[in-house]
Amino acid sequence: MESYWFDSHSHMNDDPFLEGFDEYISRALESNVRRINLICLNRAQLEYALKKKETYPFLDATFGYHPEDVDKVSEEDIRYLESVIDDPRIIALGEIGLDYYWVSDNKEKQKELFIRQIEIANRANKPIVIHSRSAAQDSFDILKQYAGTKVLLHCFGESNEMMREYLRLGYYVSFTGVLTFKNSKNVQHNAATADIDRIMIETDCPYMTPVPLRGQQNESSYVRYVGEFLANLRQMSVEDLQRQLIANYERFFHEED
Ligand SMILES: [Zn+2]
Repeated sequence: MESYWFDSHSHMNDDPFLEGFDEYISRALESNVRRINLICLNRAQLEYALKKKETYPFLDATFGYHPEDVDKVSEEDIRYLESVIDDPRIIALGEIGLDYYWVSDNKEKQKELFIRQIEIANRANKPIVIHSRSAAQDSFDILKQYAGTKVLLHCFGESNEMMREYLRLGYYVSFTGVLTFKNSKNVQHNAATADIDRIMIETDCPYMTPVPLRGQQNESSYVRYVGEFLANLRQMSVEDLQRQLIANYERFFHEED
């Protein structure tokens, strides 16, 4: 089986990358990043991703409304999501969830949008990709009650106890460049102790740039630094880790339950 890196969560279909998109893709391929899941937060981003997939078939698309956009999402937007979610090129619904870090006076509205989207995913039998920030308990309670398909917690930074709870439910956790930061002992402990068949890696670019490039704009090619750090942490060869991660990615996004 061939081995390579993937980026399970990339925003290269957003502003900083649209100019010179092909260049970013070549750089990813040069770094042996051969699969990229583009996270689409609105219709324009989805259409862009699907158009690029015609040229680059190794691109995947995930589509959903982010909690930070809760005040912008209309009923028409919800209907649009419902109308496209069965498209096989859309491998998951996300990123959806709760974010109380920036805004916390609209918690009820965020929960409502989150639950509605989980229910759409349940009906379409699509996995969901979760964004949760400063909302650990509410996210957990809603997922436990409503999620009926596979669940991936992206950019996972919660406690080890919470991670265990999620793993017990059969969920997956994904790690960004934060894993490589010196002060990220908690995230490193999580990545070192999570079940190896439940882990993914991602850039979440343009944010979360890994060491040694921390401070620069992130891009999908840099996922290899996250992967190399993880291989070292788990004391695995790069090739063995790549094969394991590819199996996880395929099982999560491309196989029916
Ligand atoms: Zn994201």
